[in-house]
This record gives sequence, C-alpha cells and structure tokens, in this order.
Amino acid sequence: MTRQIPFLDLPTQQSRIADALRTRLEAVLKHCQFILGPEVQELESRLAAFCGAKHCIGVSNGTDALQIAMMAEGIGPGDAVFLPAFTYTATAEVPLVLGATPVFVDVDPHTFQIDPTHLAARIAQVRAAGTLRPRMLVGVDLFGQPADWPALQAIATREGLGTLDDCAQSFGASLHGKRLGTAADATSVSFFPSKPLGGYGDGGALFTDSDDRAALFRSLRSHGEGTTRYEVHRTGMNGRLDTLQAAVLLCKLEVFAEELQARERIARLYDQRLGNAVTIPTRVADSTSAWAIYAILLPDAAARDRMQAGLKAAGVPSAIYYPKSLHHQPAYAQAHDGTALPVSEDLATRIMALPLHPDLTDADVDQICTAVLANV
Ligand SMILES: *Cc1c(COP(=O)(O)O)cnc(C)c1O
Repeated sequence: MTRQIPFLDLPTQQSRIADALRTRLEAVLKHCQFILGPEVQELESRLAAFCGAKHCIGVSNGTDALQIAMMAEGIGPGDAVFLPAFTYTATAEVPLVLGATPVFVDVDPHTFQIDPTHLAARIAQVRAAGTLRPRMLVGVDLFGQPADWPALQAIATREGLGTLDDCAQSFGASLHGKRLGTAADATSVSFFPSKPLGGYGDGGALFTDSDDRAALFRSLRSHGEGTTRYEVHRTGMNGRLDTLQAAVLLCKLEVFAEELQARERIARLYDQRLGNAVTIPTRVADSTSAWAIYAILLPDAAARDRMQAGLKAAGVPSAIYYPKSLHHQPAYAQAHDGTALPVSEDLATRIMALPLHPDLTDADVDQICTAVLANV
C-alpha cells in the first residue's frame, strides 16, 4: 500500500517515549529552575559518559557551540579558519561573525568528508599569500559519518592550528572504536530537532578533555562570568542550554543507542536494495555512522530532478543537502579567495537524501526503494 512517508517522524518517536517525557517535564514544572536546572547537569554528565569525553557543557544551539569554541581560542580579524565547503552554513557563518576569514577546503568525492590533502594545500596557499594567520581547523563530521580525524589532527599539530570538531550531525558515531567527542581540542554538537539526538527546540553541547577549555566554555556561555555570577571576566554571550530541553534530551538519550541501531539497519537495507542502481554512501573505514542523512548520488542534475519528482509522486519525500557549495553562497562568496573546489561544486548538483529515521518500517523502506528503482 502506498502511503505518504514522513522525512522525519517526530510524532511516532514521541509516542515511544511519552511516559518518560511526561515525568521529566512535570519534574521541571514542579521545581521551576528553568535556567541551568538540575537536568542540565545530569544531561551533561550522561552525554560526557556516552562519548567518553571528560567535560560536556550544554549550550543554546550548535551554532553558538561553534562560536563559544572559537571565542575561547580568541579567533578574530586576520585569522584564517579552515573548514569544508560542503557543509551546513553555520560552520562558515561563525568565523565571519567573529571577524575572521573562512578558508574553504574541498571534500572527498566518496565519503563527502573534508579532504586532508586539500587542507594541507590550502594552509600552504594561505601561508604563501601572507595576509591571514592560519589559526584553526573546523572539521565537520558530515551526514553522520566521522571525518578523518587522525589525518586532520596530524596536519593541525604540524601547522600549529587549533581543532574544532563540528559534530552537529554525527553525535553517536564512532571512529576506530571510539565515539566522536574527543577527536579534536573541542567538539560541538547540535540538538536541533532533526539531528540524530534532537530536542524539542534549539540546543547544543560542547565536549572537551581540557579542564581549562571547559571552564572557559562555561564562562562564555554565561556572559563571561568569573567565579561569582556578577563578576565579568571576559566578553561572553547568553548561550546556555535550557532546562526543559535538557529534560527532553534525557528521555531521548534513553532510546538513542537503539535508534542508532535502527538507523544502521535501515541504511543497510538501502545499500542492499539500491547499491546496483545508484551511488550509495561510501562508508568511512573503521567507523560507525549516526546516519543523520542517507545521501545518494545521481548521474547529473536532470536525473536528480526526475528522481525527486518520481519519488514525490510515489509518496516518498527527498531533500537536497546541499544545493550550493558554501563558497558559492552570496553571503560568503566575497570572503572566498576564488580557489576552485570541484568536488563540492559537483556534489551540489547531483546529491540527494532519502528519508532515514528510526521509525521507518520495512514496508516504508520497501516503498522507498521500489520508487527509487522505478526512477533511475
Ligand atoms: C545543524 C548544524 C549546525 C548548527 O546547529 P544549530 O543547532 O542548528 O545551531 C552546525 N553545523 C552543522 C554541520 C550542522 O549540520
């Protein structure tokens, strides 16, 4: 039977955790500690334990997490911040807000992750030009899979760059047997509702093994406060995670490991059914994915248009992440030095995401795959 399949299914997930949610939310309504209430600290401890990081700091969203991490490093005018061109806009937005310059790096054509070889070339290019100071690498774990952190960290160490892991899409994924959260100097996560671990509003977190960085992040998320609340030690921001979101996330964290397994199972079903017809996602070696997004490649833009239209007619939603490489975005084109980034440019023309959430049934997966195969 053909039904309209949802791209995301938050109502079904909510029905699975309804009792826990009610209990958790009622507890917050009872104690009324809406800012940095006990649920925030409980969530921070649980998330740190989940990914093996020493510290977790709950913040207002994934973008503010990036900003706090960059403010902690003193990123500002004249600084070059290296980041992939094929990612969500927030990664590039934050260095610009701080007056720094994003330097776009191309991605691997198979895994879509930032390309370490091109990173090294871009750093050399910036050094040769002599106008910007190379300061920081923001690696993005795209679509649920990890970037090549050992290679990235080796380059950053050699070049004296700080590292920030924009793990907004990939919390729960692992690389070489270890969950993401400790691969860089700091790791930022988003709890936007559509991310693998999503709240019921905006939310985010920072992870680090460094005591000094953790203290700085806590200060920066609360207006740069010092040891007492009304002592201001630095310019900060209002960037706290609120208690109600922490309560929701504690409920979601209870089922998160099962949901990651469900996502993996569905991704494998897609691989098996679609692998001979379209280009399915290439797995990063020795890793697990949080499967935020299952992205396929079509031969060209026209084939993608046909596929999207055919799926729509069959009750199957699809989405394009991302229709434009960031260096081509009107807001960022001026900051870009003109270097061609052919892989990012090509992916933008023919990439397409299928629905992937833990509440897809086998019948849904069958309906989706049948529709994809009918439209290649
Ligand atoms: C979602 C996302 C962000 C921003 O997170 P918000 O919580 O929406 O601010 C940053 N980077 C990447 C790669 C993202 O996907």
